[in-house]
Amino acid sequence: MMVSSRGGGGVPVEHSVRVGISFGLTSGVITTLGLLVGLSAGTSSQLAVMGGVFTIAVADSLSDALGIHVSEEAEGVHSKREVWTATIATFASKLLMALTFAIPVVLLDLDAAVVVSILWGAFALSVLSWNLARSQGVRAGPVVSEHLVVATIVIVAAHLIGRWISSVFS
Ligand SMILES: [Zn+2]
Repeated sequence: MMVSSRGGGGVPVEHSVRVGISFGLTSGVITTLGLLVGLSAGTSSQLAVMGGVFTIAVADSLSDALGIHVSEEAEGVHSKREVWTATIATFASKLLMALTFAIPVVLLDLDAAVVVSILWGAFALSVLSWNLARSQGVRAGPVVSEHLVVATIVIVAAHLIGRWISSVFS
C-alpha cells in the first residue's frame, strides 16, 4: 500500500501518508482525551461529552487537515498530489481516532468512560510513538515516555480547567 515513489529526486508519497497518519492519530488522541476529561470534570454530562467528541471529530479534523495542508505547502518541496494526500490522511486518521473515544462514553457511565479513555489513549499513543521511534531507528523508550508525559500534562490541565469552570459557573 505504501509504495515509495522515490526516484527522479522526488519526495516519496509515503512521506505524505506518514505525515498525515502520525499527525492525525496523535492529535486525535491528545485533543479528544483532553476535551473528554475537561468536559467530564466540568459538566459531568454524558450529553456534553458526546457533543464535544463528535464536534472535535469533525471540526478539529478539518482544522488539522488544513493546518497540515498549509504546512506541507510551505515546505515547498511537495507536489499538489502529495499535499492533498497528507491533507486527506490527516483528516481521516483524526476523524477515526476521535470517534473511537465515543465508544466508552456510549457504553459506560461517565467516570468509567473517562478511565477507559485514558487507558486507551495511553495505549494508542504508546504504540504510535513506539512505531515512530522504530521507523527512525532511535530507542523507543525515551520517545514513548516523552509523549506520555505530554499526554499526562494535557489530561491534568484539562481536568483542572474543567473543575475550575464548573466551580465558577455553577
Ligand atoms: Zn513534508
